[in-house]
Amino acid sequence: MGFFSKDIKTLDDLFVHTLRDIYYAEKEIKKALPDMIEKATSTELKNGFEMHLRETEGHIDRLEQVFEMHGEKAKAVNCPAIDGILKEANEVAGDIDDKQVLDAALIAAAQAVEHYEMTRYGTLVEWAKQLGRDDCAAVLKKNLDEEKATDKKLTVLAESSVNLAAAE
Ligand code: FE
Ligand code: FE
Repeated sequence: MGFFSKDIKTLDDLFVHTLRDIYYAEKEIKKALPDMIEKATSTELKNGFEMHLRETEGHIDRLEQVFEMHGEKAKAVNCPAIDGILKEANEVAGDIDDKQVLDAALIAAAQAVEHYEMTRYGTLVEWAKQLGRDDCAAVLKKNLDEEKATDKKLTVLAESSVNLAAAE
C-alpha cells in the first residue's frame, strides 16, 4: 500500500498504516539481529545486540498491544525503507574482512536502524495524542525511549572503543 493509496483517508488510517509499517520493520529487525550478534567481535557489542534483540521482542509485543487497544488486528505491511537499510548493512558487512572494521560497520548499520525506528515512533506518539489516544501514545513512547537509549549506547561504544580499534 503506497502512501497516497485511496485506502488512507484519515489521520487514523495513516496512524494504523504506520503502525503496520513499524510492526513489519520490528519483525525484520528481530530476524536480522541474530546475524549481527554472530558477526560482532567486541563482547560489549555482542551483548548490546543481544539485549536489544530481547527489547525488540518487547517492541513487537507492545505494538500488538497498541493494535488491540485501537481495535485493529495486528498486521504488517511491507516497509521498503527498513528492507533497504538492512540490505545495505548486509552488503557492506559482506565486503569487510577486518573484524574491528566490521564492528564499526555493524554499529553504523544498527544506528541507521535505530534512527529509522525513532522517526516512526516519534511520529506515532504524536499522532496517537492527536487522535485522543494518550493510552496508545504512552505504550509507543516506551518503544521510542528504548530505541533512543540503544542509539546512545551504540554511540558511546563506538566513541569509547570500537572506532579506535577499527582505526588501528
Ligand atoms: Fe524496536
Ligand atoms: Fe531498535
